[in-house]
Amino acid sequence: MPRPLIAGNWKMNGLKGTVAEFARMMEGYDRTMKARVDLLICPPATLLATLPVVALGSRIAIGAQDCHAKASGAHTGDISAEMIADTGATAVIVGHSERRADHGETDATVRAKAEAARRAGLIAIVCVGETEAERRAGLELDVVRTQLAGSIPDNATGAELVVAYEPVWAIGTGLIPTMDDIAVMHATIRAELVARFGAEGESMRLLYGGSVKPDNAVAILGVPNVDGALVGGASLQAATFLDIARAYC
Ligand code: PEP
Repeated sequence: MPRPLIAGNWKMNGLKGTVAEFARMMEGYDRTMKARVDLLICPPATLLATLPVVALGSRIAIGAQDCHAKASGAHTGDISAEMIADTGATAVIVGHSERRADHGETDATVRAKAEAARRAGLIAIVCVGETEAERRAGLELDVVRTQLAGSIPDNATGAELVVAYEPVWAIGTGLIPTMDDIAVMHATIRAELVARFGAEGESMRLLYGGSVKPDNAVAILGVPNVDGALVGGASLQAATFLDIARAYC
């Protein structure tokens, strides 16, 4: 089984003062947790130059929330995977549903960004997930299969690619799928990855994301083929983020 990963997506939250909250995460990530679970925090780009330095020696990895597909050039406001790697960060989320919805990112865009991550030596966390209407129509497995096929680059490996299944209707709403629904989806994702990448597909970590909290973490993280979580709101506080990770201890 792949080593579990709990990743925090701070979204557009966090000022310089938030570094103190991050320091509390470092303090709380004790030896038992370090032995059992990896932690990753993805702050806003404004803190990307700071947190990798603060995190040195803590074994909490730092990642970005997005990258441009190109290495450099005339792309005002964007940052490249190479720039992210230059800060000391080691991962980047690509294809989050908020970027797919707010910025019109297609599977092809997401795939180009995941390729950029590989080019720069970053782990890409590729997000997929259905909308509420798609689930109501019974299309969730087809939607996610299509997103996986279009968003994940050829020759992806377990060392450099993580998949996050995030039902759009569960993000920030307090709603979660049933454990059976998560199991079916994660088994489907695993089967797709193994069919395409063989043993590498077995070793890719599959995260569940969408309203993960300390009180549902044990149940969700115990579902087969769930190798961790992508956590939004509950990653903003050290106590709740660490409580989620403690589900593995
Ligand atoms: C997310 O945005 O990736 C997410 C899972 O958010 P939340 O945990 O707040 O639902």
